[in-house]
Amino acid sequence: MANAQQQAPTANTKTVEQFDAIVIGAGVAGLYQLYCLRKLGLSVRCFEDGSGVGGTWYWNRYPGCRFDSESETYGYSWSKELLQEWDWKEHFSGQPENEQYLNYVADKFDLRKDIQFNSRVKSAIFDEKANRWEIELESGQRVRAQFLVAAVGILSARYMPPFEGIDSFKGESYHTSRWPKEKVDFTGKRVAVIGTGATAVQLIPIVAKEAGHLTVFQRTANYCAPLRNGLVSPETQNEWKATYPEIHKKCRETATGFTHDFDPRKAMSVSKEERLALYEELWALPGFKKWLGNFRDIMTSREANEDFAEFVRNKIRVRVKDPVVAEKLVPKDHAFGAKRIPLESEYYEAYNRDNVLLIDIKETPIERITPKGIKTREKEYEFDVIIYATGFDAFTGAITQIDIRGEGGQSLKDYWAEGARTYLQMQIAHFPNLFLAISTAFGNYPVCAEMIVEWITDCIRYIREKGLKSITPTPQAEEAWVEHAAELAEGTLFASGNSWFVGANIPGKKRVFLLYANTVPAYRKKCAEVAAKGYEGCVLQ
Ligand SMILES: Cc1cc2nc3c(=O)[nH]c(=O)nc-3n(C[C@H](O)[C@H](O)[C@H](O)COP(=O)(O)OP(=O)(O)OC[C@H]3O[C@@H](n4cnc5c(N)ncnc54)[C@H](O)[C@@H]3O)c2cc1C
Repeated sequence: MANAQQQAPTANTKTVEQFDAIVIGAGVAGLYQLYCLRKLGLSVRCFEDGSGVGGTWYWNRYPGCRFDSESETYGYSWSKELLQEWDWKEHFSGQPENEQYLNYVADKFDLRKDIQFNSRVKSAIFDEKANRWEIELESGQRVRAQFLVAAVGILSARYMPPFEGIDSFKGESYHTSRWPKEKVDFTGKRVAVIGTGATAVQLIPIVAKEAGHLTVFQRTANYCAPLRNGLVSPETQNEWKATYPEIHKKCRETATGFTHDFDPRKAMSVSKEERLALYEELWALPGFKKWLGNFRDIMTSREANEDFAEFVRNKIRVRVKDPVVAEKLVPKDHAFGAKRIPLESEYYEAYNRDNVLLIDIKETPIERITPKGIKTREKEYEFDVIIYATGFDAFTGAITQIDIRGEGGQSLKDYWAEGARTYLQMQIAHFPNLFLAISTAFGNYPVCAEMIVEWITDCIRYIREKGLKSITPTPQAEEAWVEHAAELAEGTLFASGNSWFVGANIPGKKRVFLLYANTVPAYRKKCAEVAAKGYEGCVLQ
């Protein structure tokens, strides 16, 4: 197998290599983007910060990391051969297998030869005269291309809270999204986990069983729902392989890119008994069905939402033995789904263990990290290990960490100072030939990412076939899109929570709803219409 690192130019090289396109990131989106552009006949170089492919599934190696999407709907849909060759072991596959899968894809389609690993892109400057993007890596290496695709991930820029004294801690510290490749041994250790989002919820039950003592620092109680994972039987595997076209068709048709679809009825239009019966039925099923197979107005009507939220709260109360602890774990300050619903396996039972303590940091805030552990307003706790499950600077973080400069030297970071602005979530006015291959649709990520990558590929094909040099959305089209996206968000409860959906987890970040609150089919249709009208809303030259 070709080793891209050996073939790649050495750092600080004087020659500036030229490509048709540069892709930043070798996760689910970047790998497919590389494949598509290469198939189009373009010379492409992909730059990846990590030492391997996988993106999310390369970096997040913490114990318990796995899909909340059903495995058979998360895998790529674009290669029949791949679909027949790959066997998923679990219904909600774990990180090691997901990483293996993406490595398998990279090898099967010989993608590695065009990927340069351990290569963090520092800046991307648009040269207006030459109509080229010039990127510079942290190593100093520079490369130029006509098209730049940022497949840098929606949840890839890790967030570390700026706790005072963070570097003074003498024990081991880990951020879940930069987990070491070697196993971390918690046996007999005093461990702290800061955060109780989707990642922590996967991690906590496992660490609780291994550690001598575990202290969880919770800011917000979440509505966690049972994952109900299991091994995939050979019969199910064969059934998937025989019906992949139907599975993918369904995923393309549903609102959120899953096989689950909302119940067309409004919650309050049916009797209390019927509602409860549906809730119980959904609760017993695996995955996000209890969210995305629920009544259709669950994310738009406060009354419908509260009805289900109360059902979930009672499910939590039943599982946690100590009523005081249970009440701390019961979310009361946001709507169900206004924050990403974590799916869990034995999460609440972890708090029934004698070696697990829950600290509500709204009651007793963390004041600082000390050499020995964590000091809250109340007392100092001593630890051997601190795990930061503190999430990401979502959507904009990985993009604005790169110094991107468009027309007239305009900095993207400045341009987005009052909130991210895009056209179709993929392009930005004043930044020609720059594409964001990041899915901001609410739903099953790869389903929408495939659509986005294919749209970008078609757009680049169009520009080349027409002999054009560049495409840039007009400021007016961008403004209309921003307004349209904001209007959609206002009609839902998504934007109502203090979540990463609105950037609320990052101090000082302008609160703007970062996802696109439309259904995936409606999003696809809008993008297709723009393309069919010769990229309406864009200046092509
Ligand atoms: C723990 C976790 C679990 C998740 N589970 C699910 C799930 O079950 N279902 C679902 O639909 N989604 C899930 N997601 C969302 C997930 O991020 C997407 O499903 C998908 O993996 C994103 O793929 P991507 O290629 O867009 O981005 P990523 O996988 O994040 O890849 C982006 C890559 O870009 C690289 N990069 C970024 N900046 C630079 C730079 N400046 N220079 C060079 N390289 C750079 C990064 O190193 C990274 O490898 C999960 C996310 C997390 C964090």
